[in-house]
Amino acid sequence: MPSMMPANLDFQPELIRRFDIAGPRYTSYPTADRFRSDFGPDAYAAALRERGRDAATPLSLYMHIPFCETLCYYCGCNKIPTKNHARSAPYLDQIEQEMGRVAGLLGARLPVSQLHWGGGTPTFLDDDEAARLMGMTRRHFALQDGGEFSIEIDPRKVGAARVAHLAALGFNRMSVGVQDFDPAVQQAVNRVQSYEETREVIQAARAHGFRSVSVDLIYGLPRQNAFNFAATLEKVVELRPDRVALYSYAHLPKRFAPQRMIDEADLPTPQAKLVLLGLAIRRLAFAGYVYIGMDHFALPDDELARAQQHGELHRNFQGYSTQADLDLIAFGVSGISKLGPHYVQNAKTIEAYGEALASGRLPVERGLTLGADDLARRDAIQRLMCDFALDLGALAAAHGIADAQAYFAADLQRVQSLIDAGLVQRDGLRLEVTPQGRLLVRIVAMQFDRYLHDPAAQLAGPRYSRVI
Ligand code: SF4
Repeated sequence: MPSMMPANLDFQPELIRRFDIAGPRYTSYPTADRFRSDFGPDAYAAALRERGRDAATPLSLYMHIPFCETLCYYCGCNKIPTKNHARSAPYLDQIEQEMGRVAGLLGARLPVSQLHWGGGTPTFLDDDEAARLMGMTRRHFALQDGGEFSIEIDPRKVGAARVAHLAALGFNRMSVGVQDFDPAVQQAVNRVQSYEETREVIQAARAHGFRSVSVDLIYGLPRQNAFNFAATLEKVVELRPDRVALYSYAHLPKRFAPQRMIDEADLPTPQAKLVLLGLAIRRLAFAGYVYIGMDHFALPDDELARAQQHGELHRNFQGYSTQADLDLIAFGVSGISKLGPHYVQNAKTIEAYGEALASGRLPVERGLTLGADDLARRDAIQRLMCDFALDLGALAAAHGIADAQAYFAADLQRVQSLIDAGLVQRDGLRLEVTPQGRLLVRIVAMQFDRYLHDPAAQLAGPRYSRVI
């Protein structure tokens, strides 16, 4: 009988229960809640001019399309619920303004090897609008052959013809929102989507040469139970996406207003959530998926699985990536850019975003320039999340730290409790996350987050979702 568990993951409910605390997802370090409002448009403009001098290294681009026709109650994204499609044209005018300004500061048509459209719902744009956005992008940037060009798809609004159009525009990867196929769960979260429409989109993606299709699932939603979630997993396995992202539902109704529509009595208990997670891990493993990290799984021949095997995995605002740590320029409301040691976030409301552009400014709201310590810790956290291992000696050498043992003494002291619990192994200055520790890798990363352990840097209110 084949093993139900992948070789690189060990699911231990007892251990997870013990260490299931709230913590960042580390799509950036420092996390966005550490960005400062004294980093404004001038600082961003200087960073763009500086970046423009490197015309050889490709960029990553992100486009944020905030509109959604209906509101999913679990949503924690920056979105604008509206059925008024007339809103997209003026928004694209604003993105065009922003892009023109950014490209002007870069001073050259720089190469791009990675492009992602997220939201909101990028497919809120109709075919002509999508072509317009891609057209302006190509005018200002040189999209490289063989690049990763991905888009988030809402199958409720997208059929085979739209997929063909997106392929013709150059997209070659898609992530498909599913969350759960059970009708009762779908009703409880106000996202009713049939298996058939999801299958149509995925089949069309394959027919039109999309190189990777990812499906998003959420466990911990209202009315989910082992029985109906097992049925959802069967359907997902039948669809055989190249990747599966399995997110934990974080119920933070004080922070995310739509979540107040969820009846808390319908939510599975933490104990039941663990059962759902265990179910998913076992089913995906049995279907041949490899555990990538955090909440991601991939088929063994998917480039993400191959990159992990070769120690070439990276992590950015979109999650895991095969591409080197590229500079990222984000367009649209709330977008976060990363340029060398700088993070920059655009205005988070569409009004403030539009006002800044109308008055001739870059629509920057806040940002951060990382110091030497931030850069070293960003590297440490990246290695842990991607490789499940961290060589502090090599890290120190790369960052000009003379004595790694002394520099990271407090961190290593904190890590000791994880070593005692069997989540991490230590050999000198090398740390390795054990198979038991992999699902809890965020906790290992948190030990190297200086801000979390600095009494002067504590933030008020619930900031982060639970690890599991
Ligand atoms: S989950 Fe996605 S589609 Fe649903 S409301 Fe949020 S951003 Fe829109």
